[in-house]
Amino acid sequence: MRYIIDEKSTLTITEEAIVQINMYRQLPGKNESGGVLLGKIRKDLSEYIITDISNPTRFDRSGPCFFIRSRKSVQPIIDKLWNESKGEIIYLGEWHSHAEKNPGPSSIDNALLKKSFRENKVFGNILFMIIIGTTGEMYVGCYKKGDKKMYRLERMRVDDPEKEL
Ligand SMILES: [Zn+2]
Repeated sequence: MRYIIDEKSTLTITEEAIVQINMYRQLPGKNESGGVLLGKIRKDLSEYIITDISNPTRFDRSGPCFFIRSRKSVQPIIDKLWNESKGEIIYLGEWHSHAEKNPGPSSIDNALLKKSFRENKVFGNILFMIIIGTTGEMYVGCYKKGDKKMYRLERMRVDDPEKEL
């Protein structure tokens, strides 16, 4: 799936990453779950590609309406993919589930990406957030360094050949 970031760049989320995130759709009575988004950036910054996600770990803290990812348990996964890909696969943001059909970010979710800029090595000045709803509906947000909060990315229309190139 492809999304429009701005006039110069797009975000692609691979089918594999979408399938994996969908495995963690929140069932009634269950807690939120989440992890990090990993992927590549084209050298000219025209395309960001989310290729991998990290799975929830037993060190995360969560409830029906909150999720706090364990930092320590995910860092080795980020480092491993970075090494294996010779520095191509990097940290691109965060994902988590919400107990709502049409998910949207909370104020805590907005604050999280700001904090992520401070705590992670970020290439490019953009981070993403995917929130998966109970039936598979996804919120895809983008946060640019220095902005007040993230904004929702629009799906790119497949019947728009000019933009598909
Ligand atoms: Zn949230």
